[in-house]
Amino acid sequence: MSKECIFCRIVRKEIKSEILFEDDHVVAFRDINPRAPVHILVIPKKHIPTVNDIEEEDLQLLGKMVGVARDLAVTSGISESGYRLVINCHQNAGQEVYHLHLHLLGGRKMKWPPG
Ligand code: AMP
Repeated sequence: MSKECIFCRIVRKEIKSEILFEDDHVVAFRDINPRAPVHILVIPKKHIPTVNDIEEEDLQLLGKMVGVARDLAVTSGISESGYRLVINCHQNAGQEVYHLHLHLLGGRKMKWPPG
């Protein structure tokens, strides 16, 4: 865990967030600046800065994150209308927080390709 990382601080409950799911390895909470009617972030408790830093031993954790996002899409009522799962990696993708996070976005029609 990183002392300064904002998402590590959310995991430690030092920063308030609207947590929708938590287990030993994963936390999901509402994005503070939602870009869609449903905008949830799914993160590992382990501090992994970017997709580039994912190790072989983390792959099960990534699967768990996708499973949590799938379940939250169901409980958020967007599983049938559709949704997008996004992980931004580094500057060109617009990554702002250097703690791995999966965006679950839905509740509106989205454009493709993304801007
Ligand atoms: P990214 O650009 O992929 O790094 O996305 C970072 C996301 O984290 C943005 O959508 C922010 O709105 C969101 N975010 C930043 N700080 C917080 C926070 N304290 N609680 C919830 N979401 C946050």
